[in-house]
Amino acid sequence: MKSLRIIAFSLMITFTLIGVALAAPKITWYYQNDDVRGCRKECVSRDVITRTCWQYREVCNRRSVVTWSGSQKELVQKAMNILSSRVDNRSVRKCIQRHAKRFRGAYAPKVSLERQAWHDFDALASVSRWPEFNLGAKVLGTSTQGRASIGRVAYGTRDQLKWNGRISMELNVTAIDQNIRRDGFNTAAEDLAGTIFHEMLHQMGHEHPNSGDYNTDYLQGHFVVVAGDCIASNGSETRTSRSLGLASSGRRWHRID
Ligand SMILES: [Zn+2]
Repeated sequence: MKSLRIIAFSLMITFTLIGVALAAPKITWYYQNDDVRGCRKECVSRDVITRTCWQYREVCNRRSVVTWSGSQKELVQKAMNILSSRVDNRSVRKCIQRHAKRFRGAYAPKVSLERQAWHDFDALASVSRWPEFNLGAKVLGTSTQGRASIGRVAYGTRDQLKWNGRISMELNVTAIDQNIRRDGFNTAAEDLAGTIFHEMLHQMGHEHPNSGDYNTDYLQGHFVVVAGDCIASNGSETRTSRSLGLASSGRRWHRID
């Protein structure tokens, strides 16, 4: 009888856990018809004696479209699962609490920006369903991981998350390819989870400076930056990032718009 009760109890726990586990969001993958034509000069005629080229022609690769590859999508799905499972981790919340010192927003909440940031975070952590995502494939150069406009697509009230649209962002597919090949401090999927969370918070209205100076923009304890980094490190203080005030040995640092 006792064992039955234990089984029933553990079943209940299992179901409760399944009930609250946040499923990864529905993603709409999109891309734009970017022209990524790479052109180079090719020598057509050379001086026979000096071998100096005196006539060139321009050779361009055929127009190709930047879109999502299977392995990129796979990494993003993995990152989304990481984000979904970490956003309600106590260690992540503690990490943000410890390191987030500045709160900036493009909106005027009824409460302080800091309090609104926590409303938003806590709403995300307790929500049972994510807003849907639009993820754009983009080539953003070598140092930028992602990009999102500052909006107020979703926001937290005291006890729930409200949203009035999809969370939209662009992710740098070139950077994703580089990360697939090489894990840094965190795994590639963990870093991407941090980037997606960072961009998501932009879409929820949170900002950091965009001066172009890395120190000013990313190392001053801005909520958006810290929150993304705490997701990537799962709140860990030992394998983490410079924005959390720790060493960065052997790690490449990227700008995230
Ligand atoms: Zn940013």
